[in-house]
Amino acid sequence: MSASNFDKARAWMVEEQLIPRSIRDPKTLEAMREVPRHLFVEEALKNQAYGDFPLPIGRGQTISKPYIVALMTQALGLKGHEHVLEIGTGSGYQAAILSRMCEKVYTVERIDSLLVQARKVFDSLHYLNILTKLDDGTNGWPEYAPYDGIIVTAGGPKVPLPLLEQLADPGTLVIPVGDRGVQDLRVVTKKDGEITEKTIEYVRFVSLIGDHGWHND
Ligand code: SAH
Repeated sequence: MSASNFDKARAWMVEEQLIPRSIRDPKTLEAMREVPRHLFVEEALKNQAYGDFPLPIGRGQTISKPYIVALMTQALGLKGHEHVLEIGTGSGYQAAILSRMCEKVYTVERIDSLLVQARKVFDSLHYLNILTKLDDGTNGWPEYAPYDGIIVTAGGPKVPLPLLEQLADPGTLVIPVGDRGVQDLRVVTKKDGEITEKTIEYVRFVSLIGDHGWHND
């Protein structure tokens, strides 16, 4: 596919997969139109990058389908000034989308080779407002807390307590919670010291592994 065909595929992805499925936030749609998703997958999969399905990114992990990335992003309700923490950098695509919509993205990944590859792509695109860390993200990233938004892109058995503690007030946390097969996509909000939760979708994510997640692969 040529560069302009990738651009066309991306425009089509927004029109066919996002707008009809209630992705309405203009900033989310703009970021999804802008970020070259094909650069976040390996060469052999580039032609499939704009399809309505998840793709493997190596080490048994996957990049979510575009609709799920957009839905989770939209749920954060970003205006532009926020600091956002992501757990599960993976390919870096979700972090890249967020970086176009807020002030700073802090993203934590537990698999070194994935983080190294994601960093390469951020650098090549000059996405300079993304900070990365190799660690167990279920403990959050205390140094830069609190975060206006937190997004977890792997599924765990419960909401990790450190993430709730590192969420600003007001703040929004988006996280898949459930068993290892299926999870509820939950939006947890903190406002005036109160926590509320709602489920917006049923999803299948790879496992969140760590101190406050599942304990093994
Ligand atoms: N947001 C990614 C999705 C990658 S899949 C993207 O846009 O491509 C989820 C990722 O979460 C995997 O790379 C996995 O290694 C990572 N992960 C799982 N448990 C983690 C933990 N405790 N801390 C940090 N990353 C974790």
